[in-house]
Amino acid sequence: MSDFKKYQCLECEHIYDEAKGDPDSGIAAGTRWADIPDSWDCPICGAPKSFFKLSAIAPCIALPPASMQSME
Ligand SMILES: [Zn+2]
Repeated sequence: MSDFKKYQCLECEHIYDEAKGDPDSGIAAGTRWADIPDSWDCPICGAPKSFFKLSAIAPCIALPPASMQSME
């Protein structure tokens, strides 16, 4: 099994690695992002789970059109 994903904090760039978990916060190694409680937050800066984005190896994903339009 090698399909663990990594998620990066937008505030401090801390990486949550599903393969490693976050033992200091009671998240066992191998815990999937979807299984982390919403009450969990960044162990470094305290940002909420929603501040993390998938750290993808794939080419960057374009912003949705709605966000583009609001740039004017
Ligand atoms: Zn953080």
